[in-house]
Amino acid sequence: MGVLSSMPTVADGRLLWRETATVTYLEPLALSAHPRLRCAFTTRHAGRSGQALNLSFDKGERTAVLAHRQHVLQALGLEQTTLCTVRQVHGNQVCIVDAAMLQHDLTGIATDALVTNLPRVALGVLVADCLPVVLYALDTPVIALVHAGRMGTYHRVVQHTLETIAQRFATPPAQVHAVLGPAIGACCYTLDIGAVGPFQDQFPIWEQFCIPHGPERWTMDLLTANTLQLQAAGVPAEQIDTASICTACHKHDLYSHRAEGQEAGRSMAIVALTSPARASSLPAESSISTPSAARA
Ligand SMILES: [Zn+2]
Repeated sequence: MGVLSSMPTVADGRLLWRETATVTYLEPLALSAHPRLRCAFTTRHAGRSGQALNLSFDKGERTAVLAHRQHVLQALGLEQTTLCTVRQVHGNQVCIVDAAMLQHDLTGIATDALVTNLPRVALGVLVADCLPVVLYALDTPVIALVHAGRMGTYHRVVQHTLETIAQRFATPPAQVHAVLGPAIGACCYTLDIGAVGPFQDQFPIWEQFCIPHGPERWTMDLLTANTLQLQAAGVPAEQIDTASICTACHKHDLYSHRAEGQEAGRSMAIVALTSPARASSLPAESSISTPSAARA
């Protein structure tokens, strides 16, 4: 139905295009059918319904958004989980979702990274161009979901999250795996000196992710910037999986604030640890396909 599904590959085959009656989402190939993890990046399509899958209460009617969120959990086999979302503020605060935190409403907490070691807790981050970064270390186990847009990248939110994982869960970055989801690409993310200047001041390697694009203009590569931060913190390169899809180039399938403006809805990156007892349950209704199969 969408443009991505008719592409020869989705992110060089790193993402699977999945569709149910009510939800269309992308699943990292590396984590598909994983016994201990569910992970997805939703698209703007509410499955075969033909409706839009906005998942932000700020961008849609509350009842509809609640229904959409429930559909996403169902599609992932996570009906029994608690979906945790927070008030994203483009900073570097990290929220550990433990049993005590679960007693509270997290939606008012200003933070851009969620960490948990609890099964049946789904971490959700809303995006429309910003980069969602999934972190996981299954020996611990612990998972995290990071909202890394330009300012989150500037504030090194992924590195703060890795520090939290190391300190609170005794899990060093060398044991952490990362999946970088769809985000606006360097092809479309043009910035002026006001936006790039702070990076010039704070990042000696800023030229590795800010590419000249005319006089006093650059494009920013959020994927590379965050990959460099992960590696600098000690995450091995071979443990970083990058689903390189530009949200603005693919605005027909993914929400893009840059491409659509204030009207843009929000997609959700979502990750959850499953409990061992549920390890084998795949969503019965979901159709799994590679993009080429979807096209056929
Ligand atoms: Zn693009």
